[in-house]
Amino acid sequence: MLVVMKKDSSEQELAGVMQKLTQSGLTGHTSKGVERTVIGVVGQTYPEMRDTLELLPGVDEVIPISKPYKLSSREFQPENTTVKVGDVVLGGDKLTIIAGPCAVESERQILDTAKAVRAAGACILRGGAFKPSTSPYQFRGLGKQGLEMLAMARAETGLPFITEVLTPQDVELVAEYADILQVGARNMQNFSLLDEVGKVNKPVMLKRGMSATIQEWLLSAEYILSQGNRQLILCERGIRTFETYTRNTLDISAIPIIKKLSHLPVIGDPSHGTGKWYLVAPLALAAVAAGADGIMIEVHPNPDQALKDGAQSLTFENFEQLMQQVAPVAAAVGRRMPIESEEADGE
Ligand code: PEP
Ligand code: MN
Repeated sequence: MLVVMKKDSSEQELAGVMQKLTQSGLTGHTSKGVERTVIGVVGQTYPEMRDTLELLPGVDEVIPISKPYKLSSREFQPENTTVKVGDVVLGGDKLTIIAGPCAVESERQILDTAKAVRAAGACILRGGAFKPSTSPYQFRGLGKQGLEMLAMARAETGLPFITEVLTPQDVELVAEYADILQVGARNMQNFSLLDEVGKVNKPVMLKRGMSATIQEWLLSAEYILSQGNRQLILCERGIRTFETYTRNTLDISAIPIIKKLSHLPVIGDPSHGTGKWYLVAPLALAAVAAGADGIMIEVHPNPDQALKDGAQSLTFENFEQLMQQVAPVAAAVGRRMPIESEEADGE
């Protein structure tokens, strides 16, 4: 940003601004023109900084010249970020298919689901062990036992897994087991959790908060990136609108917007994005067509009996059918399917 000093401002006022910048960990570069003095601010600024600087004596105006998010922006890094999880590369030319139940319920349930989604073409397993619940009376997950079941399913099927971490204190434990740590929509602005997952050497998937703007979402990404963790994936999971027919409104437009503003991979989640199983397939196809790097789909052996999110979960059969529908859409936008393409490569 640029700080423009008033015409009649004093040297003392200029020094005051420079001091404020230094205190905030920023550097100011002064340019004294004939008409006015301008300070170019370099460093990690934040939106509130503008108001703070504008209040200082001698300051005429503050002009933002770059976006508030920096490390996540295309300006900072023009080429796409790719995140490696075992043999899977997120953000490359292959589509990433993540599938599994909302919550891990039992060994049988997670293993049967892992086998079914792998056979149909998924490359990453999902399942919640620590579940965020709007109501405290809902199922809140099996905790550590759930992580052990996911690890068992990974050992049996070879599928890496993603699972949610709810609190900063749980980060170490979840990172011990999981291949990707998920930060859920309800925690998108849990800044101490963001700081903590920013310090681990494991990929993180940051879901968009249900009422978050794209800029707020990218600023949350900035928390993780600025702690040093650059293995970051974003996930559009629907936002709250006036519409009540669906659980959320999947913001398809956010996908190409993110691809334009940021170098980070973005996954579409039509399960939470719609809340209804029969809307999952059409919205999954739309997310892929809009340029998503992958999709995350909730799948359950018996959606009717699921402890969580059964209404938006696909049966094994429906998931398999979806995978068949996704392939031509992926091809149309220049993406390869994770499994088919491996066969084609002779890998
Ligand atoms: C989930 O992925 O199961 C989940 C709880 O999602 P969200 O945080 O988007 O509601
Ligand atoms: Mn769910």
